[in-house]
Amino acid sequence: MSRLASRIVLTILLFPALIVTSSISGGLASLLSPFIDDVELVIGVSLANATAFAVAFWLNWRGVVAWTPRRTSRTWIWSGACASLAVASLAALVLLIDRWNVIPWLIIAVAAAGLLWTIGVVRLWQESSKERSLRIAATGVNTALCPVCRYDLSGLTNLRCPECGNEFTLGRIQDEQRRRLSPPGLD
Ligand SMILES: [Zn+2]
Repeated sequence: MSRLASRIVLTILLFPALIVTSSISGGLASLLSPFIDDVELVIGVSLANATAFAVAFWLNWRGVVAWTPRRTSRTWIWSGACASLAVASLAALVLLIDRWNVIPWLIIAVAAAGLLWTIGVVRLWQESSKERSLRIAATGVNTALCPVCRYDLSGLTNLRCPECGNEFTLGRIQDEQRRRLSPPGLD
C-alpha cells in the first residue's frame, strides 16, 4: 500500500472513529458527572470530539501538505472562523430553543461546523497548478514513476515495481511519464 492510500484509508476511518469516541465520551461524561447540566455536557463533549477529529485529520495529512506561510495562515484563519461559527451557533441555539429540544441541534451545529472546516482545509491544502508544475520540474524528465504507486523506477534493471509489486511494459511506463509531464489541466 502506498503512503497516500494509507492516508486515504485512515481519513475514511476517522468518521466511524468519531462516532465511537463521541458515544463513549458522552456515555462516560454522563456517568461520571450526574450533576452536570445536560446541555453543557453535550456542548463540551461535541466540541472536544470535533477538536480531536480536526487534530487527527491534520496529523494524518500534514506530511503531504506544502506548508507555505500563506497556506499556514489561511488554515489558522479558517479554523478560527469555523470554531467561532460553532460557538456562536451553539449560543444562539441555547438562547432560542427550549432546553429539552435543543440537544440534537447542538450536535448538528458542531457537526456542520466540523464538516465545513474539513471541506475548507481540503481545498486550502490542495496543491495549486503552479506547485504541481514545480514539483514535476523538480522530479525531472529523466525520472520514470510507477503508474500505480508513483514509486521512482529509475535505475531498476527490471520492470517490476519494488514498492507495489506490479509489473509493467516499457510502453506503459513511458505513457505514464508522458501523461505526468503534460501541462496541468490536460489530465
Ligand atoms: Zn508501484
